[in-house]
Amino acid sequence: MSKLETIFAGEHEEVVFCNDKASGLKCLIAIHNTQLGPALGGCRMWKYESVDQALEDVLRLSKGMTYKAAVAGLNLGGGKAVIIADPKKDKSEALFRSFGSFIESLNGRYITAEDVGTDVNDMEYIFMETSNVVGVAETHGGSGDPSPWTAKGVLEGLRACVEHKLQKTSLAGLKVAVQGAGHVGQHLVQLFLNEGMHVFICDIDSSRTKELSDRPNVTVVSTDDIYEVDADIFCPSALGAVINEKTIPKLKCKIVAGSANNQLATPECGDELFRKKITYAPDYAINAGGLMNVSIEFEGYDERRANRMMRNIYYVMKTIHTHSQMESLPEYKCADRVALKRIEEISRLRGRFIGNSKPSFPGRIVRR
Ligand code: NAD
Repeated sequence: MSKLETIFAGEHEEVVFCNDKASGLKCLIAIHNTQLGPALGGCRMWKYESVDQALEDVLRLSKGMTYKAAVAGLNLGGGKAVIIADPKKDKSEALFRSFGSFIESLNGRYITAEDVGTDVNDMEYIFMETSNVVGVAETHGGSGDPSPWTAKGVLEGLRACVEHKLQKTSLAGLKVAVQGAGHVGQHLVQLFLNEGMHVFICDIDSSRTKELSDRPNVTVVSTDDIYEVDADIFCPSALGAVINEKTIPKLKCKIVAGSANNQLATPECGDELFRKKITYAPDYAINAGGLMNVSIEFEGYDERRANRMMRNIYYVMKTIHTHSQMESLPEYKCADRVALKRIEEISRLRGRFIGNSKPSFPGRIVRR
């Protein structure tokens, strides 16, 4: 089966190929599912080696967004965009405005935001052509960088994991190994220190850990050693697929809970964590804080609401642990069940009471 034929065989509602020679834009937008609401997902800018590779990425990432929004209790569907270009060389106003025009043509079915390779400045150019973009600067009524909120959400999810696994209501005195001191990792370190935890940290870029090394209760370790440190929690906050058959035997922790997307190299790695009695916080459930935060832009951004929403991640994680314990099922499978159940139930409800199988799209987002 060709890559294109897999689209018809799969679950995606729509895949758009955007081509604009004048600005050099080559982009794919994938809308996976809009049963709960418009498809929201960031725009990744990456030097893909082929269009096939970009297609594979956008299909996978957009599906992940459907599950993330569903578990987070948001009235949003899942989508994603990938721009095939080098973020270090190829960014221009024309390219992002062209991308914004394509989004506008989708009439609110897809809403974009930042992702790897794009930032709040790029969102400003997109915003000139469409209001279907979130994560725009505070000066435009937006919510700005989502990373601090992703970190806050991880902290709430971790509280639930610690209560479940260690029967503790306080994080003070616990040791956590953070992999990656990037946008989210830096905020996580600060939040963990505020809680009285001891932090082990590593990054392939030593400039990211330099300032942290002088701080009390912080130990900088090498990227190889991070899996084996004597910590209660392993917190992946860099790349995906770090929980794999090579790393699982090294882990001494009791809990894996971090911000990175696609942490499990394969579903079997989730089974193996469960077999070893290591509590796993499913990645898309614990890292939804950034998505929750940008979603508030639909009704006019309000930081107090954002803070309240973060607590939801604690309750979602509790639900997952309860399912996992009662049915003796790995946590990643329970998270999928919670997501699919909500999509099914809300879709059915909509069909029955609103007489319309699909939600209406907001069209324009409120900016104050
Ligand atoms: P980032 O690029 O700012 O930070 C990643 C850091 O990891 C960088 O400092 C990088 O040098 C480091 N790194 C890369 N490979 C490493 C390795 N092998 N060992 C140790 N360090 C390594 O990214 P971010 O925005 O902080 O996101 C971190 C993770 O969280 C990513 O997986 C991202 O997809 C996910 N995530 C982020 C957000 C958000 O709001 N930014 C939301 C949801 C999920």
